[in-house]
Amino acid sequence: MASIILNKNNFFNNLDIIAKHTKAKDKIALVLKDNAYGHGLIEMASIAREYGIKKCVVQLESEALKLEEYFDYILVLADIPKCSSTKIHYAINDLSRVPSYPTGTKVELKVDTGMHRSGVKPEELHTAFARIQEQGLSLGAVFTHHRSADELTSEWFWQKENFTKVKEHAKELAKEFGFSTLRFHSCNSAALFREAAFDEDMARVGIAAYGCMNLPLALKVDGFKAVLAVKASKISSRFLKKGARVGYGGTHEIQSDCVVSNYDFGYGDGFFRTLSDSYKTQADIQLVGRISMDNSSFISEEEELLIFEDASYVAAFTSTVSYEILTSLKSELKREIR
Ligand SMILES: *Cc1c(COP(=O)(O)O)cnc(C)c1O
Repeated sequence: MASIILNKNNFFNNLDIIAKHTKAKDKIALVLKDNAYGHGLIEMASIAREYGIKKCVVQLESEALKLEEYFDYILVLADIPKCSSTKIHYAINDLSRVPSYPTGTKVELKVDTGMHRSGVKPEELHTAFARIQEQGLSLGAVFTHHRSADELTSEWFWQKENFTKVKEHAKELAKEFGFSTLRFHSCNSAALFREAAFDEDMARVGIAAYGCMNLPLALKVDGFKAVLAVKASKISSRFLKKGARVGYGGTHEIQSDCVVSNYDFGYGDGFFRTLSDSYKTQADIQLVGRISMDNSSFISEEEELLIFEDASYVAAFTSTVSYEILTSLKSELKREIR
């Protein structure tokens, strides 16, 4: 069966670069949503803990519950609390949902500073604090998310400025409502590295830790290394003469006599079918014919074939982002930490 290889040294290398920028390991909240960007939730949680990461971010409570033994702090981005845990903190994305949060829940208020996806409006801040107090929730932080941190425009500065005003207002409101000192966070990977002097309480870092952050040249940060590689095993081999056609529909015609082998990685495992007939591995090994559910054929005789060593490379082939390549990898694939 095709498998995923996780390179621990590369992960630690990436975390070193991130920790240097946040100035403290403790300010890194590793984003582990979507099966740790396809890397494997528990695998990444365990090596993150080994490195000394104490905080993480997930989408759902069900993910958070699996991580309690690994982290001191877990932020759930979009779920209504059903369990009670001292380690789990829940985002409030919409004021109408506040009545569903049980009294005493640790919450963090998301503010919409310009992305217009989730969060309360800056002008709703007072109402939000009042509702949170009425509901008896424990407000620990106010946060936001950037819409254009990875693009070379001034939008990032505009949103940062909006959040600066939100922070000032929130600090005043915290005093007025008698809440304890609030924490603030706004940075994903790209935003963190746009901050010349990062001074927030935490950064929510995903793609940079996995070594697949793709930024325009002017914003590029050097030194990150991809953590995940996909390796497939040979199922069968055959010698084909020039003119033979391979796979469903016979779409690929062999240009000169060669050995074609079939490998156990297909779109059912997370390989993008749109790569059919065009993909070449990073070692320049040509894929031939259509990718099928559990198979793909390459001009190769190798027993094991590295399908890719860097999701960014595959993303460039299909004009998508590394995030989509990674999160498409099925959780059933075997993961091996090296
Ligand atoms: C996914 C996500 C992140 C992490 O983004 P990266 O670009 O992978 O660093 C941070 N914050 C929120 C709210 C997210 O949804």
